[in-house]
Amino acid sequence: MIELLSELIRNSCVNPPGGEMRSINAIRRYLRRRGVDSVVYESAPGRGNLVARIPGTGGGPGLMFGPGHVDVAPVEKPDAWEVDPFSAVMRDGYMWGRGSHDMLFMVTAHVQAFADLRGLGFTPRGDLTLLVVCDEEDEGTFGTGWMLDNHPEVVQVDYAVSEAGGWLREPGEIVFTYGESGGDSSPVESGVVAAMERAVRMEMPGAALVPEIMPGKTDFKFLRPLGVECYGFGLYDPDTPPSARMVHGPNERVSLKTLELTRRVCVHLAMDFLK
Ligand SMILES: [Zn+2]
Repeated sequence: MIELLSELIRNSCVNPPGGEMRSINAIRRYLRRRGVDSVVYESAPGRGNLVARIPGTGGGPGLMFGPGHVDVAPVEKPDAWEVDPFSAVMRDGYMWGRGSHDMLFMVTAHVQAFADLRGLGFTPRGDLTLLVVCDEEDEGTFGTGWMLDNHPEVVQVDYAVSEAGGWLREPGEIVFTYGESGGDSSPVESGVVAAMERAVRMEMPGAALVPEIMPGKTDFKFLRPLGVECYGFGLYDPDTPPSARMVHGPNERVSLKTLELTRRVCVHLAMDFLK
């Protein structure tokens, strides 16, 4: 899992121009080595999106891990970085690099959690879908927007979890996001939110999920108008300093504990909510 994250950082899929097929193909290979088939849709030269699915047995809601984006924001102030932003340096338990926090660690956790669930022979009642996309940091034209126009059946799920959420607000309070400022929002009270809280408590007993609105926009802007209930969900190492989570800022980094905790809560969530 750590190797996949470092590969995604080193691929430096800065958008524009993106070139995300490097990372989409890396994920396809990673999944294939774990016995998981996926489908890649090329939306433009060098750009594309990946889908994998565990079909449900019927009778339950469908859940998506994603859309997770593999493109990253440009590095505006390289001199402000303590390390090369694309070297995926490990230091003090953190992997440093552009996109490590936004949102390559979460994509990596989604991919590994999906492979784990397949490996366990998990049979959900509703479909479990993994969606990894390009082009979130620009317009989404070739990523989630393109999937919506060309393969709407993939994105038309009941529930989706992706960026951004999982950090500590106060001791025992873990943030989940349910909307975007100036955009649509999903219900704060929901069966999937209750399942998200149970998943977090398996790793952090007694923790409560607390709702927040995202200050920026994510690809959920494409899904919420379709009626998909979308939440920012994960679980950060509680010691993570806010400076490590600066979206699009310098010295972006992620604790390997965050990567592992987020993988775990995704597995717990699917096993609970889709059982
Ligand atoms: Zn992002």
